[in-house]
Amino acid sequence: MAEDAVRRYGLFVDNTVVQPADGAYLDVVNPATGVVWAQIPNASIADVDRAVTSARRAFDSGEWPAMRAADRAMLLIRVGELVEEHAEELAELQVDENGKLIREMLGQTKLLREYFNYYAALAQMPTGTTNPLHVRDMVNYTVREPLGVVAAITPWNSPLLLLAWKLGPALAAGNTVVAKPSEVTPVSLIRFAELAAEAGLPAGVFNVVTGLGDPTGTALTGHPGVDKIAFTGSTATGRAIAAQAGHTLKRVSLELGGKSPNIVFSDADLDSAVNGLVAGIFGASGQTCMAGSRILVQEDVYDKVVEQLAQRAESIKVGDPRDPGSEMGTVACRPQFDKVRHYVEVATADGARLVAGGEPAVVDGFPDGLFMRPTVFADVGNEMRIAREEVFGPIAAVIPFRDEAEAIEIANDTEFGLAAGVWTGEVQRAHRVAARLRAGTVWINNYRKTSYATPFGGYKQSGLARENGPDALREYTEEKSVWVDTGQGVKDPFNPRA
Ligand code: NDP
Repeated sequence: MAEDAVRRYGLFVDNTVVQPADGAYLDVVNPATGVVWAQIPNASIADVDRAVTSARRAFDSGEWPAMRAADRAMLLIRVGELVEEHAEELAELQVDENGKLIREMLGQTKLLREYFNYYAALAQMPTGTTNPLHVRDMVNYTVREPLGVVAAITPWNSPLLLLAWKLGPALAAGNTVVAKPSEVTPVSLIRFAELAAEAGLPAGVFNVVTGLGDPTGTALTGHPGVDKIAFTGSTATGRAIAAQAGHTLKRVSLELGGKSPNIVFSDADLDSAVNGLVAGIFGASGQTCMAGSRILVQEDVYDKVVEQLAQRAESIKVGDPRDPGSEMGTVACRPQFDKVRHYVEVATADGARLVAGGEPAVVDGFPDGLFMRPTVFADVGNEMRIAREEVFGPIAAVIPFRDEAEAIEIANDTEFGLAAGVWTGEVQRAHRVAARLRAGTVWINNYRKTSYATPFGGYKQSGLARENGPDALREYTEEKSVWVDTGQGVKDPFNPRA
């Protein structure tokens, strides 16, 4: 690609593109071609301050929080319409950033309109209660009020979807937002911000600062003008953010890592189950927080499932992410690619049996692409590192189990608790096992589904709070209790219970 094809982007603050104060930029690399195709600011403390000040002004002036809910809702609907109109452009930007399949990114991006419609509806729902009290002549009601300025920090795997999970409820509730995308996938968010401004969001309501976790992310999470941090990413960074937020008591919601069990009982429809195992760990090249990376298989069908899974893995078409015929694109960036390869060594050294993949994939026409072959390790013990640590790549760890009790024990023997899959033909078992799994989402005879209409989030080290679902706005509001005296006369000042 010619030098002049590298487009330089700015920060998006106050509905305008601004260049970074100290002129520092980072390269954006296409992981399929290895080509640098964009540059984005590595925002400094001063840049972040400018964005937070803009969001603060839009909030404190009352322009956004005090706007009629119906008007805020109309603007969210308009944002969704514009995203849909530009879905192909936005999907292609994301593919060029993270190497995921065009078919997945396009489907995801088109669905965003429904996300914004859903939050537009929630923006207009009743939020308070009236509460019967222990005292007479007193009315008590609650109202939910926006928190203020929200910092939305997002990873590279699903840039716009994971932004929408935060932005939709944050804006619907009347907050203003400063987003910091991963430096791997910043351009799609900048383009989205331009569209949001075009849709009519007032200046300062949605701002984007790009850059590295340090300095940009830390400047944002440490800024006194930020009231809440909504973060998706690794458990390690989530812990650091929560610790930092503890000093200022910022509100925090965290959507973190996983090592989710996908459990196959011998009474399952095995063709569907193997299909679900493939979706769980090879969809998005395994780069999803909810990846079904621990595959638990009952002993009497173990050999058969391992064989079928290995065959399916070997037949997956790894290729150009922009080709609608490809089934797996790249790993998103060089450090992640190195991490995935490292875990092949770790699993092998720990004694797991490699039955598929295990090395980079060779894709014609893409000599510098970060393609990895779908990889399956069998005979994994749940104590091995490949079963305990999040890889975030296309590596399945298959673990045998004897019976239901052992399956549940192994499934729950992890620091994570994001999701789990259960494959069985017996309805009683399905619900019995779902009830025992310590995970925020359980899929029965399906895997890797999410929706704006149902909550998503983790138990244990997989996170704090929930995104999506009818209660999503609660995470972006404070609750105020209002007491109104409707009685007559003067009350006893020394007995508040009178
Ligand atoms: P991180 O958790 O480090 O990054 C996620 C986001 O947080 C990025 O925008 C990142 O910025 C930002 N960030 C990093 N450090 C800080 C900080 N101290 N304060 C504020 N913001 C910060 O994930 P990585 O992208 O480095 O991926 C590493 C691993 O995380 C993966 O291998 C995978 O295991 C896991 N992961 C989990 C995801 C999930 O959905 N649960 C999503 C992505 C990754 P920047 O990238 O610019 O440094």
